[in-house]
Amino acid sequence: MDLDPRPERRRTRDGEGPRWDAVREAALERDDRTCQRCGYRRRQRPGDPERDLEVHDTAGFSGQASLADLDRLVTVCRPCHATLHPDDPAYRDLAEGAPLFPRPDAPPAVATMRTERQHVCQRCQRMVDSATDLAAYVPIDGGTYVLCEPCAGALLAAGYDPADFEVAGELDVAALESRAPDAPVRPALFATGPVRALRPPETGLERLLFDTPLRYVVNPFGLTALFILVGVFLSFWLF
Ligand SMILES: [Zn+2]
Ligand SMILES: [Zn+2]
Ligand SMILES: [Zn+2]
Repeated sequence: MDLDPRPERRRTRDGEGPRWDAVREAALERDDRTCQRCGYRRRQRPGDPERDLEVHDTAGFSGQASLADLDRLVTVCRPCHATLHPDDPAYRDLAEGAPLFPRPDAPPAVATMRTERQHVCQRCQRMVDSATDLAAYVPIDGGTYVLCEPCAGALLAAGYDPADFEVAGELDVAALESRAPDAPVRPALFATGPVRALRPPETGLERLLFDTPLRYVVNPFGLTALFILVGVFLSFWLF
């Protein structure tokens, strides 16, 4: 175990030694020297050293890979690799240079958002495993708000501008809008400001709950207020 406090001595490679060099080279060769998360391909001329290619071991700390384990290795550029090692201080803030979304055809082990935090929908607070099931609302005036597909559809249905949305690969507005009924009508209590919009109510029950004065009651604040009012009323009436 490496307890060296100096960041430059921390683990920045997923293996070392001559055997690792051979395995690493085989993985790079198989992946056509292309980052499997973002598609960056090493140029012939020595390019930006910060964006060099590395080989990630998806099995983590389970022992150094041999040639027989080639299928658990994946080629990634340095910024994308940094997103896979969020606790390694050797990468510092390099992950910020990686794209928010992976390529749509990235292998599952690297089909992740830039940070783990971004796997939680900022409207309904649901956790989503695959980045290909997420969208982001990126308004012109700044900010990045990650959303599950249903919530992204809900915002599009509520009139948000499709030009402000991003997904892994091509944006399909109609497909996202068709997911909207799976989103809650009301955002979660702690949803982020710009993505707090209500989904337009669809069913008769939703319209009853959200298009009539009942909407002042059917929410955490309304229910608390109602509870207190009933309590006060009962205490007067009973005693
Ligand atoms: Zn990359
Ligand atoms: Zn790695
Ligand atoms: Zn959501």
